[in-house]
Amino acid sequence: MIKTFKVSSIFLTSIIFFGMIFSACTPNMGTSGLRGKTSQTLTGANLSLGQGFVLADNPVVLAGNLNLDPNTDLNTLVAGAYITNKGFLTGAAPCDGLLPCFEVLSTRTSLSALQTTDGKWAYNVTTPEFLQTNTFYHLNKSIDLFYNNLAASRTFSTRPGYDSAIPTLLTFRTEPLHTYANCEVADNANFDYAKFTLCFGYLSGNTNMKFAQDSTIIYHEAGHFFQKLQLNFRNDVPSTVAPQADMGTVFYTEAGSIGEGLSDFYSYYVNGRAHLGEWAAGRILRASRPISESESMHAPGISTDPSQRLNYPQFLNYDPNNPMTPVEDIHYAGMIISHYLVALSQDFQSYCLMPKQAANNMITHLLNETLAELGDLTTKGTNLGTAGKINYKNSGTLAKDWYRVINPINYRSFTQTFAKNLYQNMQSIPACNGAFYGKDRIETLLDDYGLLLFRTYNQNRNYATVGDNTVSVAATNRKKSSLISKTLLKLDPTPGASSAFIIDAQNQIADGVAQLGAAGAILTDHSFISGFPFNNGNSRVSPGEVVAIGLNLYNDSNATMGGIQVLANDWNHVDPVSGKPYIFDQWPLVSEGGTAAPATVAEQFSPVCLIQGRSADGSSTQWITQNAYRQKVAVDKTMCLDSSNTGTSDKDCFIRAVKGVEQAQYSKLAPKSNWGKTLTDPQTQAAYGIGWSNVILFQVSKHVPPGTIVNCRLRARFTNCEECYHDANRSNYDYKDLDYNGAAPFKIINLQFSIID
Ligand SMILES: [Zn+2]
Repeated sequence: MIKTFKVSSIFLTSIIFFGMIFSACTPNMGTSGLRGKTSQTLTGANLSLGQGFVLADNPVVLAGNLNLDPNTDLNTLVAGAYITNKGFLTGAAPCDGLLPCFEVLSTRTSLSALQTTDGKWAYNVTTPEFLQTNTFYHLNKSIDLFYNNLAASRTFSTRPGYDSAIPTLLTFRTEPLHTYANCEVADNANFDYAKFTLCFGYLSGNTNMKFAQDSTIIYHEAGHFFQKLQLNFRNDVPSTVAPQADMGTVFYTEAGSIGEGLSDFYSYYVNGRAHLGEWAAGRILRASRPISESESMHAPGISTDPSQRLNYPQFLNYDPNNPMTPVEDIHYAGMIISHYLVALSQDFQSYCLMPKQAANNMITHLLNETLAELGDLTTKGTNLGTAGKINYKNSGTLAKDWYRVINPINYRSFTQTFAKNLYQNMQSIPACNGAFYGKDRIETLLDDYGLLLFRTYNQNRNYATVGDNTVSVAATNRKKSSLISKTLLKLDPTPGASSAFIIDAQNQIADGVAQLGAAGAILTDHSFISGFPFNNGNSRVSPGEVVAIGLNLYNDSNATMGGIQVLANDWNHVDPVSGKPYIFDQWPLVSEGGTAAPATVAEQFSPVCLIQGRSADGSSTQWITQNAYRQKVAVDKTMCLDSSNTGTSDKDCFIRAVKGVEQAQYSKLAPKSNWGKTLTDPQTQAAYGIGWSNVILFQVSKHVPPGTIVNCRLRARFTNCEECYHDANRSNYDYKDLDYNGAAPFKIINLQFSIID
C-alpha cells in the first residue's frame, strides 16, 4: 500500500504557453555583437516609397549599452529600411498555399493588417503602427530567409540516391499566420500553435517596453512557426481535419524544450549573434538567453572547451541568469540544443571553411529533414518510405498517440535523427572544404553535449532488420554521454518516503482541469461531474474523485538521469482472450491470476489499473480486469466510466487515466536523489513546486465499492537509458514502434492503493 502526503500550497495553478518565460534574477549579460550608437532624426521625408523606420536589432545592441535606460527615446535608434510596396502589412500574399503567408495587425481585435496612407511606413516608435512595421520587417526577413533556404533545401534533396523527408510537392495552409504586434498579453510573447497566431506583448512593469521592439524575440517566435511548418511538411497541411504535429504540449516535455532551443537557434540563424532577448526580457525580467558557451553571461566553468559545454542532462535545469537555483523550464532546458547547433555551425565555419550563412543554411536544411520525418503522421517518414516506418500506424489516433506519448520526440530521438541526416548529407557531398564531414566528428561533438545516447543511426526505423545497412555509432566516441540501466530508476527507497503524491483538493483539481481543458490538453470528453463534488482533499483516492498522482521516483545510480517519463496510457499487458494479466517482473503470480506474456507485443490496449478480487472459493487474492470485477460486483454497465465514450465499453469501468494527462514528466534526477531533492534550491532549501507536468490525472467512478484495491501498472523510462530504446537482444538496434506498446523498453512501476472515502 502506498503512503501519501498532502501537497497543497505549492501546486502550480498556471500553465505557461509557448512564449518566453521569465524569472527575476541578477543581470550579467554577454557582450557579443554590440554595435555603436546610431542617431536618427525621425522624419519620413528622406524615405522612398515602401520604406519605413525600424529598429534594425534590439535597442540594447543598437545602443551598445547593456544597461540601456528602459525609458530611453528609441526614436534615436531607428533606421530607414524597405518594408513593402503592397500598401498593407501582408507578406507573401495572396495566400495561395505556395508560400507561408502572414499578416501583421495591432491587436487581436484589429480588423485588418496595417495600411499605409502615403506609401511609406514612417511612424514614431511610441505608436502601435511602429510596432507593426518593425514586426513585419523582421518577420518578413526571417520568413524570406527560411523560405529561400527551403527552396534550396528541396533542390538539394532531389539528388540521385538520396531519400529525403522533404516532399517534392510542398503546400502551406492558405490561412495566414496572424501576428499581433501590440498584443494584450503582459510580460510575454508567444506562438499559439492551435490558433496559428504570433503575439508580442508588453512589460507590466514598464508598459512602454514592448516585445515587438526586440527583433531577436520576433525571430525566436518565428522559429516556433517554422517548426510547425517543418513538422507538418509531410502531413496534409492545407486541410483542417488532418492531424497536425506540434513541438511538445502545454507541459514540460523534452520535445517542447528542443522546440525552444530551435527557436533560439533561429535568432542566430537570422542575425548571427549568440545571444537573444537583451531588451525587454534582459533589461527588466533578467531573462535574456545566450546561444553559445562563449557568452560571458554563463556561469564560471562553462566555455566552448569540449569539456565545458552545456552537456545533457547535467544542464537541463540551468538558468544562466540565476545559475545557483535549479528550474524545470523548457526554455532553459532547450539551451543544450541551441548551443549544440551553434557549436556545429561554428565547426562548419572553422573546420570546413563554410561562410556563416552557408553553415546555418545547412543546419536549417537538416532541421527541415529531421522535423519533417519525426512529425510525419502519415507514417512514411521519407519520400521513399512506406507506411508504418515511423509513428507506428496511420489509423485512427494511433500515429498521434505514438507521436505524443508512446514514442515522442526527446533528446535522444531528435539528435539520433539529426545525426543520421548530418551523416547522410555530409557523407554524400564533399561540402567540408572539398572533403566529407566525418562520422567521428559528428559523434564527438554530440558526445561533448552528452547527447550520444543512441547506438545506431536507426535510418531504417521500423523496417530495420539485423544485418541490414544500419549504421552504428562508434562506442569509442561515447566518453561523456552516460547510459544508465533502467533498473536503477525506482520508487524512493528511503525509509518513510512516500511512493506517490496524491492531490485531490476540490479547488486545485477544478482549477487545473479548467486550465488543462482550455489549453486543449484533455483529449476526450471525460464527462467530469461539474464542481467535483466527491473530491474531499484528504490526499487519498476516493470514489467519484478526480485525482492527480505524481510518483516519488528515485535515481539509484551515480550519474544523472534525464527526461524521465511515466506513462499511464493503455498498453498490451492483459491477455485479450482469457482476460488474465500478463506476468512482468514476477507480478502477478500465476496463483494470483497472472499468465505468461507472449514473446511478441500485440496491437492491443488495456487500461493500466487492475483490481484485486478473490478466487471463486475465496481462498486467494486474484488480480483481474475492471470488466471482470464489474461482473463480479454486479455493477450495471451503464454506470461505468467509459474511455470509448460510446457507452459500450466497461474495460475502464472504475478508474481511468485521463487521456492527454496520462503521462508525467520529470526533467532530471540527480544521482542517488529523487525529483524534489534534485530541484531543491541549494541556498535557501526551498522546495520546488510540483506542476501539472509532474502528475497523471485519474478519474474514479462513484460506483467503486469502498475498500476496492487497485494496482495501476505504470511504465517509466528516461532518455539516457540503456535498455529503453535500443534492444541488446537485436544487436542494439532500436526497438520498433509496436515494442513500445509492451513491457520490454520500460521499468514497470506497480502503484497499489485502495479506494476509500
Ligand atoms: Zn519560445
